[in-house]
Amino acid sequence: MRNSSAELAPDAFRAAGHQLVDRIADFLATLPTLPVAPSTTPQAVRELIGAEASLPSTGADAGAILAEAAELYFKNSTFNGHPRFFGYITSSAAPIGALADMLSSTVNANCGAWALSPVATEMERQVVRWIAELIGYTPDAGGILVSGGNMANMVALMTGLRSVAGHDVRSLGIAGGEKLAVYASSEVHTWFQKGADICGLGTDAVRSVPIDDALAMDVAALERQIREDIDDGWTPAFVVGTAGTVSTGAIDPLREIGALCREHGIWLHVDGAYGAPAAMVADASEALRALSIADSVAVDPHKWLYAPLEAGCTLVRDPEKLLNAFSFHPVYYRFGGDAEDPPTNYYEWGPQNSRGNRALKVWATMRQCGRDGYMRMISEDIELSRAMHRLAADHDELEALTQSLSITTFRYVPRELRAGVGAPDVEKYLNDLNSRLLERLQAGGEVYLSNAVIGGRFALRACIVNFRTTMADAEALIAAAAREGRALYTR
Ligand SMILES: *Cc1c(COP(=O)(O)O)cnc(C)c1O
Repeated sequence: MRNSSAELAPDAFRAAGHQLVDRIADFLATLPTLPVAPSTTPQAVRELIGAEASLPSTGADAGAILAEAAELYFKNSTFNGHPRFFGYITSSAAPIGALADMLSSTVNANCGAWALSPVATEMERQVVRWIAELIGYTPDAGGILVSGGNMANMVALMTGLRSVAGHDVRSLGIAGGEKLAVYASSEVHTWFQKGADICGLGTDAVRSVPIDDALAMDVAALERQIREDIDDGWTPAFVVGTAGTVSTGAIDPLREIGALCREHGIWLHVDGAYGAPAAMVADASEALRALSIADSVAVDPHKWLYAPLEAGCTLVRDPEKLLNAFSFHPVYYRFGGDAEDPPTNYYEWGPQNSRGNRALKVWATMRQCGRDGYMRMISEDIELSRAMHRLAADHDELEALTQSLSITTFRYVPRELRAGVGAPDVEKYLNDLNSRLLERLQAGGEVYLSNAVIGGRFALRACIVNFRTTMADAEALIAAAAREGRALYTR
């Protein structure tokens, strides 16, 4: 056997692996007792890892490296798997995903081509179909796993523009024909701007459609904008309906938006990165279920399907469109296969070439939970979020703001200022107070939440995509917000 510094002999692998698994199991057992976020600074963390040191010329023992890494990680991380993590839309990860990742890194299949990843590619196809089924989309959709919601949405944008444009975007470029306009509500996630920018459309092509009182897209305003653009010589090409906005979980009226899109030959894309899995629960709204009519949907398995980062999924109703948008055939690849039973070569379905096996951790997590498991976890998350909203509404120092899907927003309002809510000077003070309150709560390590800005009001925002959160955790967040708000106000 060649004496190679990268090799780890079976016995050494076994010993280092068992030790690591034991450390991880201990960590998971104690997670609820740890601070949600560490109280530290970039400089302190750099010192801890000796950030300025060069890579040593001699290597080190694998077991010792992993022990050190585990210690560093467990003491200096923000834990989105903690039951009191309510920030952003970052979910807790099912532990089976970690084990699946180890398996997938071991075999290290290259999921760019079927020949390099026979079972892994078929598992990805299966997982894509399961996701489509779960959210009530057509199981015949084409799809691919990508790194997350941003990429899943951008792959749909590139596919939609290439399908809808009257010119050959792939050879002439996006600017090589008519001027294409794209639409989303003012609450759309920033992927849209970023996507318009990096795919060469330019952000001037982006139309920001006003929202209604429920923070969902105003369809009449969308229609006016489309007509105005047509009159001005633009070609309306792509509309995003968001199924669960990142700030407040609002759901755009997808059915009405879809009707407009059909009338004008516009591609309807649904950004369901966060909210799409909630379409399966018993009391899902009609607006959310209407995601089934979209030309494409983005869903994040690393959000409400509880797979570890990174996993996003693009679904396209007509699989050919995805292939038409991304396929090239370089001379150095001969992955043709049997015409009767053609292999799926994912390098032709998206922007990536070599691809790791992202599917396995999603596949394993989905199998462990099953459809019923997801229905229950998602319903419970939504129920907890509603309960949290009621707690805020009943508290005389808190003002409950929005509640949709599993996102609740509220703010601290001192009793003395209650009567003044709405007055410009009081609002200004409350915005400042709540922004300081957010920083204080994040630094405290007891709970972790983020913020939203709703009609100019700075709100505390709690999102529950966390299968570990209980009612006691929701109560702890409300109590901490009131207690720390009072401490800041009376200081
Ligand atoms: C999270 C989110 C995104 C971005 O997804 P990433 O996985 O963070 O890249 C896009 N849109 C919506 C609605 C989201 O919730």
